[in-house]
Amino acid sequence: MPSKPICESWFSTQRIQEDLYLITEPHYYWYNRANLWLIKGQTQDLLIDTGLGVSSLRQYIASLIDKPLLAIASHIHFDHAGGMHEFDHCAIHTAEAEALRRGDDYEALCTLEQGWVQEEHFDRLPHSGFSVEQYTLQATEPTQVLQEGDVLDLGDRALEVLHLPGHSPGCISLYDLRSQELFSGDVIYDGELLDELHCSHIPTYIATYERLQKLSVETVYPGHYHSFGRERYQQILQEYLERRRQPGCPSERLATSEVR
Ligand SMILES: [Zn+2]
Ligand SMILES: [Zn+2]
Repeated sequence: MPSKPICESWFSTQRIQEDLYLITEPHYYWYNRANLWLIKGQTQDLLIDTGLGVSSLRQYIASLIDKPLLAIASHIHFDHAGGMHEFDHCAIHTAEAEALRRGDDYEALCTLEQGWVQEEHFDRLPHSGFSVEQYTLQATEPTQVLQEGDVLDLGDRALEVLHLPGHSPGCISLYDLRSQELFSGDVIYDGELLDELHCSHIPTYIATYERLQKLSVETVYPGHYHSFGRERYQQILQEYLERRRQPGCPSERLATSEVR
């Protein structure tokens, strides 16, 4: 098979607001391609998700960074946590800290057998010699372990960590109460939601969505696909709950017996 061309730049950037950038990996399969959000704060910059880790994101964003940078993985999956090893300061929820520490390919969904990482998913290669057989989540010691209620203070704004399991046990979103913006990771996005992975749990996902229904959100910056507003946010929550709630089987009961 002829080898694929090597791309000139693996990443692409869009400036969404004065202090917000969206970075993506356009040569990678759209279905798994994550949104990486760079928030420029007054005292600290925040990178929410780090992509596949197949090309240096740290070097790519270097010119945009002029303050201490904290890289956060919204959860352990390879499309979000793959680049964590590059950053001096990195954080993940406590439920998935050990998997990051170990470089756990199974929890990251990137063993070849799991079939999430495929050669066909790369239309160009990030560098010469790249092969999916060698793809792995690099073991990384998180410098900060996150929990529900933690506040990340950027000087001019603050983001609260919401622990929202269901897709995976350590899923978080970051919520800015003042602007009512939600950086949601894979908890909620406007596309096919994945709740049947080995690490997923539907009753827990339902409980998370019941919680999110009460959260006042103006804009969602999701882990995949496009951003959306309040109305679509509530619609996605509602549609999921209608689809997954089992008749005669209140989710509250399921959730309290099976979660935690
Ligand atoms: Zn995921
Ligand atoms: Zn994802």
